Amino acid sequence: MSSTSAQPTIFSRIIAREIPATIVAETENIIAFLDIAPKAPVHVVVTTKDQQYRNVVELAAGNPALLAELVAVAEQIAVERTNGQFRLVFNTGAAAGQTVFHVHAHVMGSPEPADVLGEDSLGAL
Ligand code: AMP
Repeated sequence: MSSTSAQPTIFSRIIAREIPATIVAETENIIAFLDIAPKAPVHVVVTTKDQQYRNVVELAAGNPALLAELVAVAEQIAVERTNGQFRLVFNTGAAAGQTVFHVHAHVMGSPEPADVLGEDSLGAL
């Protein structure tokens, strides 16, 4: 965390192992865990260990290499867990459904070759 005054986000508390989660991938800078409220047969949250970037736009501007690393981990998870076709969603702003202001991607898909994702996994709008 870059700012010592910032309250840890729920994801930082998962990273610190203060809150349990099913962690499916971890690198020096990135961590991924199963979403607690899955909206697809495979639904994994991929986030940065540093909570300084609130959303993907801030991350792209501030550390594009870290964004590329996050996407690479997301792709690896999709290769391992889905049929190879998947959604990679960055909700950006509360009105778009963002509830945790610590940049993260949702990897959503299915391992079944014939499955087609429903619109539900895009959110309520
Ligand atoms: P967003 O609404 O785009 O900010 O995404 C936040 C996601 O984090 C939601 O899909 C939540 O279900 C998920 N989430 C919140 N708390 C936890 C938790 N403790 N473990 C796993 N996923 C969580």
